[in-house]
Amino acid sequence: MVAGAFAGVILLVPAESVCAMARRRQIYEGKAKILYEGPEPGTLIQYFKDDATAFNAQKRGTINGKGVLNNRISEHVFTLLGNIGVPTHFIRRLNMREQLIRQVEIVPIEVIVRNVAAGTLSKRLGLEEGTPLPRTLIEYCYKDDALGDPLVAEEHIACFNWCSQDELHDIQDMAIRINDFMSGMFAAVGIRLVDFKLEFGRLYDGDYSRIILADEISPDGCRLWDMNTNEKLDKDRFRRDLGGEVEAYQEVARRLGLMPEGGDNAVLDLETHRKKKGS
Ligand code: C5P
Repeated sequence: MVAGAFAGVILLVPAESVCAMARRRQIYEGKAKILYEGPEPGTLIQYFKDDATAFNAQKRGTINGKGVLNNRISEHVFTLLGNIGVPTHFIRRLNMREQLIRQVEIVPIEVIVRNVAAGTLSKRLGLEEGTPLPRTLIEYCYKDDALGDPLVAEEHIACFNWCSQDELHDIQDMAIRINDFMSGMFAAVGIRLVDFKLEFGRLYDGDYSRIILADEISPDGCRLWDMNTNEKLDKDRFRRDLGGEVEAYQEVARRLGLMPEGGDNAVLDLETHRKKKGS
């Protein structure tokens, strides 16, 4: 089953019917997304799956409706970032699970931005989760599933030329700007932006390229805590077997105004609905 939001109502429909619509050349399949060839050269279609993985895919599962929510949340955040002048790969959302994006050459680095100690930073340095950091910390991981995306230093990035010094400066500037904007955006709806992951890509124009924000920004790749209760509203609910994943993602969408107040925000299971109606 998959979920889709129409006028504030979440509809659950069989996943196969959505997949059947997507008969395009597949370029790449990742853990949570599939990339298809786009309608024009230089474009791709990014499809959001419900699959969830954690700990380098050692833990796998499905979060019904996650792809729909992540598509919508990521569209919202990328649009707002675009509005403040952060260049991104996002062009437009096509439907419940797909968005049209610019094709880029992904820089093989995951950029982790941290405001509060949590996750692997807490483990590595023995910091209690929830300890505010004295300043924003940017870390880099080399994108390699087989190696488990190891933490690397700027020196490694320069040594192996994963990106140039100029590109890294652009990435750092954008990461700080994105963090400032997103911290404010989430704080305004009572959510603490603890940390998050970004990916960047090279957009080519002839022989020249520039760095733009790629991938997605959603509760899959952010730690989002309720400011009053510290309740986790992100993928840690899946990683740590806390349950209520969809409800947490829905809560983020609701607070961002993506599931309008006053509308019927309840999850409407179409099959149950049909059975009740006897059709
Ligand atoms: O696990 P760790 O504490 O290093 O994660 C830091 C942040 O980066 C978290 O918000 C997590 O969701 C995100 N992340 C991610 N994908 C990874 C590694 C981390 O989205 N492969």
